[in-house]
Amino acid sequence: MSTNFSPSIEVTEPPRRFSSGYVDGVRPSHHMNDSKTRFTNPWPSFRYSTGFPSFFTQIFVAAILRSPDIPRDVKSSIPVQSPTWDTESVNEDSAKATYHACYLVELPTPPGAARGVRVIFDHVFSNRCSLFQWLGPARYTDTPCKVEEIPAIDAIVLSHNHYDHTDIPTLCALLENPSSSAHIFVALNNADYLSKALCTPLSRIHELDWWDERLMHVTLPSKYASDAVVDAEVRLSCTPSQHVSGRTASDRWHALWAAWVVDDLRSHKKVYFAGDTGYRTVRDGEDEDEVPVCPAFAKVGERFGGFDLALLPIGCAPGIAFIPSTIVCYTISVRIFKDLKAKKALAMHWGTWVLGTEPVLEPPMLLGKSVRKRVSVQMNSLFLHLEGHFSSRP
Ligand SMILES: [Zn+2]
Repeated sequence: MSTNFSPSIEVTEPPRRFSSGYVDGVRPSHHMNDSKTRFTNPWPSFRYSTGFPSFFTQIFVAAILRSPDIPRDVKSSIPVQSPTWDTESVNEDSAKATYHACYLVELPTPPGAARGVRVIFDHVFSNRCSLFQWLGPARYTDTPCKVEEIPAIDAIVLSHNHYDHTDIPTLCALLENPSSSAHIFVALNNADYLSKALCTPLSRIHELDWWDERLMHVTLPSKYASDAVVDAEVRLSCTPSQHVSGRTASDRWHALWAAWVVDDLRSHKKVYFAGDTGYRTVRDGEDEDEVPVCPAFAKVGERFGGFDLALLPIGCAPGIAFIPSTIVCYTISVRIFKDLKAKKALAMHWGTWVLGTEPVLEPPMLLGKSVRKRVSVQMNSLFLHLEGHFSSRP
């Protein structure tokens, strides 16, 4: 098989399975205008007060003024492993997820193919997740490899446009891989900016609303002959999440945020990627078990019939005022895992940058306690890898 094989990728719009939310021409409740340029979280679980400092202001204040100490032994506590994507391929029944703050998932390998379809979610290989590379949160663990060493990707899926999820230098490097023909999947009003920033035609960037879907047909390299290919088909579904967007002080809410479902249509392995999301809003004096929760996850779990793997955030940012309504922490991750009807989950959003005031090793440790409390009979279903960068087969 030639290493320079570049898959042919075709993306089409399948017949709609889920309502778009438009009723008699009236826009869905998460659209704040008819031009699809301003959005909101349409549930009582989201309560937002105007007048708060911006997301970035709060992140920078937390990171600079109140950031936790980085343990001297952090690199041994969170050892970085070399990825195994070239030396250890997946079989016909299992997928493989490789973590680096976020995930690269290789779906099961179709019979005769050299590999499965590869999907990468929200990857950031830059040192700082910031507008600038001289200011802002810097990584305290190393990248597991150079960005140029990431293998050919077929789909780049982005949850939203915050700097710790949409990193232009990393995306440029992924697209420059000569063996990659990757297409990009984003939520509404993200495509124009990305097309210009990445010098990539809009025909390669697919912009979806919540509950929209696309089929991606990929010709994979054969493991037997360099001139043969094996067909694969994957369905990508854009689903609701409770978050916010914005890359500058003036564009908050202008681009939609989303969680994503990737369904391998041959093996029927389904992967859920949460991106950033909140679950409920708890204010001082309120009982956290009495406030409304975001209904999106239970609805997604019901509509998709559960998942083989859910990629869920566990890092939270205590001390940041509006974070609880837009980001979950370990206890809530377990509730989302149950709402989604997921068989297995892998944790993300910890062990890389300081984006709040919590001790850096706290999320995985407290996640373990929360798992034992909430899902005692499913303890083995929720993976927790303290290695930080790893591969796992759901
Ligand atoms: Zn975010």
